[in-house]
Amino acid sequence: MVFLMKIGVIAIQGAVSEHIDALRRALEKRGVDAEVVAIKHKGIVPECGGIVIPGGESTTLCRLLFREGIAEEIKDAAARGVPILGTCAGLIVLAKEGDEQVEKTSQELLGIMDTRVNRNAFGRQKDSFESELEIEILDSSFTGVFIRAPGIVSCGPGVRVLSRLDNLIIAAEQGNVLALAFHPELSEDLRIHQYFLGKVFNC
Ligand code: GLN
Repeated sequence: MVFLMKIGVIAIQGAVSEHIDALRRALEKRGVDAEVVAIKHKGIVPECGGIVIPGGESTTLCRLLFREGIAEEIKDAAARGVPILGTCAGLIVLAKEGDEQVEKTSQELLGIMDTRVNRNAFGRQKDSFESELEIEILDSSFTGVFIRAPGIVSCGPGVRVLSRLDNLIIAAEQGNVLALAFHPELSEDLRIHQYFLGKVFNC
């Protein structure tokens, strides 16, 4: 039997099916084969060669990840070098520190990225918007879809800033971990998912 790499999308809450779709299309485009699986419970993350944490509501997402024992599995995977992509709420979940709002609700974060985030950095002014972004890992601009989007306020020296908007970091990478404040799964452009697959397959 041929061993097929698994790529898991955390499917507890949020924009799950869009990421699964985008990953499947990106795999096809890259000409690589992998099984894209929805992660709803403990025990699947350790089998995955790549993990996506989608957007949604970070408080709920974090609470359930810790309650179900998936949080520890993601932390272990990150420490083993498994590529992880966090988008929107996923960017918050990956952070080491949150803003006052996160502290007030004693929301526990995964602490995988050396970042401090503002949960609703773009949320209050304009709930949803699109912006043409220059992202360091892409050779031309990318249309970012922002929905009650967070932002990275500050980060440690090990974090590579990939893009900024309004003085906030909206794309960053720390080794195997990539965090975006916007939703690449909601645009037709597959370049970010393809970049992520490049990390998964070392190509
Ligand atoms: N700002 C939201 C939060 O706090 C995230 C929004 C999103 O993922 N679209 O969780």
